Amino acid sequence: PSKQRVALVTGANRGIGFAVAERLAQSEYTVILGARDEDKGAQARSALEVHGRDVHDVPLDVTEATSIQAALGKIKDVFGRLDVLVNNAGIQIDGETTILELAQVTLQNTLETNVYGPLLLSQACIPFMKANGYGRIVNISSTLGALSDIANPESPYTGVDSPAYRMSKTLLNAMTVLLAKELRGSNILVNSVCPGWVRTDMGGPRAPLSAEAAAETPVWLATLPDGGPTGGFFRDRQPIPW
Ligand code: NDP
Repeated sequence: PSKQRVALVTGANRGIGFAVAERLAQSEYTVILGARDEDKGAQARSALEVHGRDVHDVPLDVTEATSIQAALGKIKDVFGRLDVLVNNAGIQIDGETTILELAQVTLQNTLETNVYGPLLLSQACIPFMKANGYGRIVNISSTLGALSDIANPESPYTGVDSPAYRMSKTLLNAMTVLLAKELRGSNILVNSVCPGWVRTDMGGPRAPLSAEAAAETPVWLATLPDGGPTGGFFRDRQPIPW
């Protein structure tokens, strides 16, 4: 097995995933960029393959169980270990839709990427992590999915629609808690993080944070020491309400 810690980041070809991958590679992790488009994955890898950094790419569409199995099989064969999973790949396809207009197919597609993907990946990775007695799982979530926020009439996000996206992140947060509970005592730590509002294709050009700045807390959670927090929801390294 590889001597360095090995991290898999989903949706790592651009945006926050790319920035998280870059930071982990700078921190001497072996980083595997998951990308559903092989060419984009290879391009992102070449962009990060500088200064002797150990960066690889693997085709990975998080909505395809066969793609997840193939990626994990490759990681097992080539690296023999997996220490970190960053569930970053996500879509927001219902920005202008209200809950009364939400189509079933929109909700289904959103849940497939934002919830089933992280769940299937976690289920595939955890036995592998258990075998090495170490694991860090980071679910890139959003304050928009916090029930405390959705239920708060004073919330700054009250005017935000995206019902499918918001519900998907609520579910992702529930998954974080359930996985952490299941894994207590195992040295596999599972946490959710809101990266803030970030200038990416999803966040748009008006967002205040760069992807590099937004990578800070996800990378902290991906590299937590033993005994670190699990089953939490963080923003700027601080716990935030669900
Ligand atoms: P981007 O839209 O910039 O990037 C999304 C990434 O996810 C792309 O690499 C995309 O790949 C990938 N992706 C989408 N669907 C799949 C799939 N089925 N399989 C594999 N990869 C997929 O988004 P951000 O970087 O802004 O967002 C990253 C995460 O951060 C998301 O989970 C998002 O919800 C969350 N977030 C973002 C915020 C923001 O302000 N930007 C705020 C709060 C949370 P491709 O290039 O092929 O499309």
